[in-house]
Amino acid sequence: MQAILEQLEKTARIERDDLIKLLADDSLDEAIFAAADRVRRQTVGDAVHLRGLIEFSNICKQNCCYCGLRRDNANVHRYRMKAEEIIRLAEHAKALGFQTLVLQSGEDDYFTPERLTPILKAIKALGFAITLSIGEKPPEVYAAYKAAGADRYLLRIETTNSTLYGRFHPGMSFDNRLACLAALREEGFEVGTGCLVGLPGQTLGDLADDLLFFQAIDADMIGLGPFIPNQDTPLAEAAGGNFQLARKVMALARLLRPDANIPATTAMEALHPQGRILALQSGANVIMPNVTEGDYRSWYVLYPGKVGVHDTPENSVEAIRKKIAAIGRTIGQDQGFRSKRP
Ligand code: SF4
Repeated sequence: MQAILEQLEKTARIERDDLIKLLADDSLDEAIFAAADRVRRQTVGDAVHLRGLIEFSNICKQNCCYCGLRRDNANVHRYRMKAEEIIRLAEHAKALGFQTLVLQSGEDDYFTPERLTPILKAIKALGFAITLSIGEKPPEVYAAYKAAGADRYLLRIETTNSTLYGRFHPGMSFDNRLACLAALREEGFEVGTGCLVGLPGQTLGDLADDLLFFQAIDADMIGLGPFIPNQDTPLAEAAGGNFQLARKVMALARLLRPDANIPATTAMEALHPQGRILALQSGANVIMPNVTEGDYRSWYVLYPGKVGVHDTPENSVEAIRKKIAAIGRTIGQDQGFRSKRP
């Protein structure tokens, strides 16, 4: 297996069966993390890019079985920020030194292009690169957001096993998910995707397929996190995913897509106190500190144990800057677009 790993590190290529063997073999974990860290250093360097995260609405029309924001969850305080609030948070993020913002929400149909494009234009005028993470929309809506200044779009596939996808996304369509990802590419976005690791019924073969999917669509960004059961969802009693496997899938994503932007996600830290730092040392090169303020932070609850819900943006940023410096990494000084290798 060591030879297969060396080959993967050199070529970014691997057969599906070998990928499953790497996923199954715990004895190779440290070697995989070290290889991913080497590839990260050679391709995207030591800079960690910070993206300020604004969670501007937790209202969602979808009903994903693992998510605390699902529409049937009555135990969540719903909110929708006003345009002025979102722009004020962006101005604050600017003052904190951010150059990229991630605007995230549930699938909230209140935010039509008529309402969202003026907000995007105002934020763009502040000099930000803008990432959207607001779910499935028709191609013409994606086009409107691109024209208004959005640069990147995150839309996780969650799982490439279409049967599992159907089970955990009632009323949604796997084919439409694929069509949305294709439309985002067509519109010229940098496209981010990713998966949940440890979903009930998910196999190592499914995870291998997820990894090969990221490679096949040439994902610019890959966001991964462990599945963490939420008490207010139908999966409350399910066994959760584990940190080590999520970290390993993330490291393999780096080996398969050497120049992608890969965040160390907060979900990693929900399962391990040093989760994001360990992720940064296993292939990740991006962190998304939350710049949402006040109660909104605790109302945007996808899974239990979310870190930093009572922090201020200043505290979140300061803490993460210190952690990054402590492992000898630097803060990215540009907007951190993907620099594709020739
Ligand atoms: S995962 Fe996204 S689309 Fe699904 S319920 Fe949660 S916020 Fe809505």
